[in-house]
Formats: sequence, C-alpha cells, structure tokens
Amino acid sequence: MDLAEPALGVAASTPTVWLKPGREKSLRRRHPWVFSGAVDRVDGDAAAGATVELASSSGERLGRAAYSPASQIRARVWSFEPGERIDADFFRRRLERAVDSRRRLGLLEPGAACRLAFSESDGLPGLIVDRYGEYLVCQFLSAGAEVWRATIVEQLAELCTPRGIYERSEGGARHKEGLPSRRELLAGEEPPRELQIVGGNARWIVDIAHGQKTGAYLDQQANRERVAAHARGAEVLDAFSYTGGFSIACLRAGAASAALVDSSADALALAERETALNGVHDRCRFVTANVFDELRAVRDAGTRFDLVVLDPPKFVHSADQIPSGSRGYKDVNMLGLALVRPGGTLATFSCSGHVDAALFQKIVAGAAVDAGRTAQILERLSQPADHPVATEFPEADYLKGLILRVH
Ligand code: SAH
Repeated sequence: MDLAEPALGVAASTPTVWLKPGREKSLRRRHPWVFSGAVDRVDGDAAAGATVELASSSGERLGRAAYSPASQIRARVWSFEPGERIDADFFRRRLERAVDSRRRLGLLEPGAACRLAFSESDGLPGLIVDRYGEYLVCQFLSAGAEVWRATIVEQLAELCTPRGIYERSEGGARHKEGLPSRRELLAGEEPPRELQIVGGNARWIVDIAHGQKTGAYLDQQANRERVAAHARGAEVLDAFSYTGGFSIACLRAGAASAALVDSSADALALAERETALNGVHDRCRFVTANVFDELRAVRDAGTRFDLVVLDPPKFVHSADQIPSGSRGYKDVNMLGLALVRPGGTLATFSCSGHVDAALFQKIVAGAAVDAGRTAQILERLSQPADHPVATEFPEADYLKGLILRVH
C-alpha cells in the first residue's frame, strides 16, 4: 500500500485524468483506450507518456494509464488492477506472460520467427516485439511505450537473451502520437543484412533494418501453408507478393510456377534470393509493377492461373476510409477473380481492421457477381495465435482471408 495515497487511493505525485460523467463505461469493460472527448480535466503535471490515474466523475479509480497529449487516444491503460505499480517489474510480468504464451504454442524454436508481444492484446499498448531467431525487433508506437523504452529493452534482454535488439519505430501510428520515426540498434549486435529464418518447410530471408514493417509479414506465416495446400501442380499468381512468402510456400508444396507481382523493387530483389535459397527460383517470374495495372494487362492478354493470391496492404486506415477502401478491395478482387481458370482457387486477404469479416465477404461476393464468376468459400482464414485478440479489445482483430473455389 502506498503511504502517500490520499482519499482516491492515488499517489500524491501521480497526475489524475478525470473522465466526464458516464464516460467510464468502456473502461469498466476493460477496453484500454480513453479518447480525448471523454476527458474532463487533468490534475497534476502529465507529460507525454507519464503514468496517470484514471478516475470517473464520481471519484472512482479505474486504472493506471499512459498519458498521450498529442493523440486522440489520450490515455492507454497499463493496468486495471487497483494499486498495481507501473515499473520495471510490471513490464517484466507482462513480457513474461507474452513470451510464455508463445512458448506454449511451440513458436520459440531456434531460428524461427514469431510476434512475441502484440500491443493491447498482450496488455502492452503501443509495444510490438517480433522475434527473428536470435534477434528481436521492437516498435514503440505510443507515448507510453516510448517513455518505458529503455526499461522494456532491458527486460527483453534479460528475459530472451537475444543476440541483438533492433528498433523499427516508424509509420503513421508514431506520427499520431507526436513521435518521430526511429530506426536503430538498441542492444547487442547489429543484425546481419540477410538474416535466415526457418518456418513451415522453407527458409526465409529477413532484412530487419531495411525490410517493410519489422522485416517480414509474420501474420501470414500460417496462412501461407493453408493456401499452399491448394497449390499442387498450380500456376500461381502471387499479387502483392513482398518477398514471395506465398509463392515459396506454394512452390515447396508442388506448384508448377509462380508469378510474383509487387511495386517494391527491393522486395522483389530479396524475393529473388529467397526463392533461390529454397530451390524454386527457376519456377518464378518477378514483376515489379502496380498490381492493379499488371492484373488488368494480364487479364486483357488472356493469361489465366490456377491459384491467385491477393494480399494487398491496408486500404482502410480509419472509419471514414471504409467506402473508398471497400471499392479498392472490390476492384482488386474483380481483377483477381477474372484471372482464375474455371475450377481454380482464389486466396484473398484484407488486413484492414475497419473492414470486418462480414463486410469483406460481402465485398468479395459483389466482386464475383460483377466479374461474372461463381465462387464458393472453402476456408476462412484469420490471424495466427502469436497475434492474439484480447476479448476486451476487438480492434486487434484485423486480418481476414477467404480461400474460394472459382467457377
Ligand atoms: N504477401 C506478402 C505480404 C504483402 S504486404 C507476404 O506474404 O509476405 C503488401 C505488399 O504490397 C508490399 O510488399 C507492398 O510493397 C506491396 N504493394 C502495395 N501497394 C501495391 C500496389 N499498388 N501494387 C503492387 N504492390 C503493392
């Protein structure tokens, strides 16, 4: 018990964020965000990332959170436990819990890659930690995660004893929190330019410092195998291929050939080396192009495929982009459907959290009608167990996919 705690049970030095009447409801359901519109006033000096007490208008203490003055998400809850201190031990407990979950899933094999900490879903808002063999890559995406950066790195070093810890804190999320991008070595050794990882029955090359995100799209690891189960003998079109994750899984599973299409020349350069490493390079074609243009050209040229994979980037970043993003998904799915030989397969994905599974299915259904094709859902795919969805935080549920038979 903190001796300095006054009536509210708040340490005298801890600033308090007072909510407007009735705005504590989502916190009671343990949803970890406080939006700026819910805040009545802030008592005390709350710097960016500082730990604050959350209090309802009647003085009920609701939890401890990280304050983020620049963001619409004004506070992100660290703990709903009354009196739980936010300190090095707190981060140690949360990180241990997250790592233990991956261990129980069998994801910590030597040389393998997985997501070790997935932000709100692991009780660590704004923190992403990916493990690539002996290296860890962190993203500190909120003001709160940012101020605890050194502590988190220290705890990770002790807990996981990696060879190196690298930072890839970049992108829109940092910007919304008023934080600059940062990319640097945090501890230990600089990762090699081309780190080899094992996963499924393939080997992957990850460029931690220069690749997209933290170097790879770990959320598609399991889905590549699911799609590859439909690939025997197939001519595959891998649209939005990045370094060819789907192509390699499909070719290793017996696909006849793969055409990789991506707008990033860097990604395809890595794809060339990765496909060679896996002994499938001679069955690949690499096309640096805008997928929309390329698929239209291929359609008009009359070329068709047995298996088309569509794994576009996030089209919808906020609720107001749902209509335009939906049109984008419909367009790309119409093109993809048109390229499938009758009886062939389409594997199509969306990583936009704002487009839920029901809406995505509706969009694909509309695309099939407009493309003049009949499609059946064979399998529904989502995100893997190392990207869990905390039940009180449905926003974490972002990845969805359909495997369709197309007539
Ligand atoms: N399927 C990949 C991940 C794809 S991520 C995997 O399994 O690893 C999305 C990819 O789309 C990125 O590589 C990005 O470079 C590419 N991209 C984004 N917009 C594009 C466009 N209009 N045309 C082609 N590629 C695009």
